[in-house]
Amino acid sequence: MVDVLVIGGGNAALCAALMAAEAGASVLLLEAAPVEWRGGNSQHTRNLRCMHDAPQDVLVGAYPEEEYWQDLLKVTGGITSEALARIAIRESATCRPWMRQHGVHFQPSLSGALHTARTNAFFMGGGKALVNAYYRSAARLGVQIRYDTPVDRLKLDGGRFVAAFAGSERIEARSCVLAAGGFESNLAWLREAWGQNERGEWPADNFLIRGTRFNTGTLLRHLIDAGADAIGDPTQAHMVAIDARAPLYDGGISTRLDTVSLGVVVNRDGQRFYDEGEDFWPTRYAIWGRLVALQPGQIAYSIIDAKAVGRFMPAVFPGIQAPSLDALARQIGIDETSFMQTIASYNAACRVGRFDHTVLDDCHTDGLTPAKTHWALPLDTGPYYAYPLRPGITFTYLGLKVDEHAAVHFGGQPSSNLFVAGEMMAGNVLGKGYTAGVGMSIGTAFGRIAGRRAALAAMKEPAHAVA
Ligand SMILES: Cc1cc2nc3c(=O)[nH]c(=O)nc-3n(C[C@H](O)[C@H](O)[C@H](O)COP(=O)(O)OP(=O)(O)OC[C@H]3O[C@@H](n4cnc5c(N)ncnc54)[C@H](O)[C@@H]3O)c2cc1C
Repeated sequence: MVDVLVIGGGNAALCAALMAAEAGASVLLLEAAPVEWRGGNSQHTRNLRCMHDAPQDVLVGAYPEEEYWQDLLKVTGGITSEALARIAIRESATCRPWMRQHGVHFQPSLSGALHTARTNAFFMGGGKALVNAYYRSAARLGVQIRYDTPVDRLKLDGGRFVAAFAGSERIEARSCVLAAGGFESNLAWLREAWGQNERGEWPADNFLIRGTRFNTGTLLRHLIDAGADAIGDPTQAHMVAIDARAPLYDGGISTRLDTVSLGVVVNRDGQRFYDEGEDFWPTRYAIWGRLVALQPGQIAYSIIDAKAVGRFMPAVFPGIQAPSLDALARQIGIDETSFMQTIASYNAACRVGRFDHTVLDDCHTDGLTPAKTHWALPLDTGPYYAYPLRPGITFTYLGLKVDEHAAVHFGGQPSSNLFVAGEMMAGNVLGKGYTAGVGMSIGTAFGRIAGRRAALAAMKEPAHAVA
């Protein structure tokens, strides 16, 4: 029997496996995906939000604990655990030397990633390189890895872990770390959580999943049904507006669109529905997934004109192009009259000052609802472009309740040998909202804690004491 069983194959699972192996435990890691798709959502990531009190290699300035905490408090609207959030924040200050030991390299923030040079350390080669480095290091430390092994249930004795089942196979271990992601890839569960809207639509039917298809939440549901304490609202998730032409799964970051603040966004009826210039796009992009989810048909179109070309990160899919606005409306199949009215009212309301996309400039609309408060330039220069938008779900926040040792709880009592890390418990810190890079901070901090605690728990198990 191995000491520590780790279920999952992304960042949190790998951090746990590495820590447990370093503590001297024998470790078996079970990844649902085949080897070529290993690494879950972590393979799509780019950076980690890091606390630091002075400049550090790739990080400029300082990002003290209090500022990081205030940022989290703001985005979550207070739906967070301060004690657990501060653990993730403090660990983010010290984890990078350990990450380097396991082969992760960092690089300065890219020029397209606004405002992150101070707060976020970027992985050289992205999340794929990070995951590959961790798998190599795990193999060197003797961690056994099995791919194509989705675990569907556990055998528990009260709150104690006894064994995991992958189909008919029973796998025993002295302790266990769950790091199998959220339920964002489970279309049926998303449908159930989001329900039917007033138009009789099932909004989740039109969601795209930005990451892995393997995070089906099978164990999350199993554990909740088995009496584990849960935290979070199933409809809360990190959700952005992405290119509607993205694949259903694994489109990753390349399907992101940065055109919204440079033009207007209309829904299927040709109507605008939100201030496209409210704030810098990287600060606002995470609210647009939900905004599009609330529109009829869960579709919207970002409309720009030739003046915007060259001002945004190139999109992976080309914009739908037309020489005139009415031709564009026909091409995207929305009501031409209503669309033309919307654009005419917007153009007439634009009060153009000094356009500057790098600051919250003074180009705004007057007397228009909803207003566009910055970067409002009339759409008057052909050719015109439309980019279709759909809600792109990154990860869900419903998870298992934990304490500072990452122990799974049953009826308020911590399990002695069952731990959880990453998306499966991120809802303890993220009740709602998001700030870039915090997913990997939470996964790294609690993955490392869970691995350490699981190794300790395994040593305490009676079978180990006898051996
Ligand atoms: C496109 C995209 C970009 C992102 N960018 C960033 C970023 O730059 N910075 C950041 O902080 N966060 C980012 N995130 C969020 C980040 O990916 C997550 O917060 C983090 O990776 C979660 O790590 P995890 O280990 O919990 O989950 P994952 O990395 O998703 O790993 C879960 C693993 O569990 C496996 N699994 C699932 N079910 C089972 C089962 N039943 N049995 C066995 N294995 C199972 C999966 O195959 C997978 O390997 C991004 C997410 C996406 C989708």
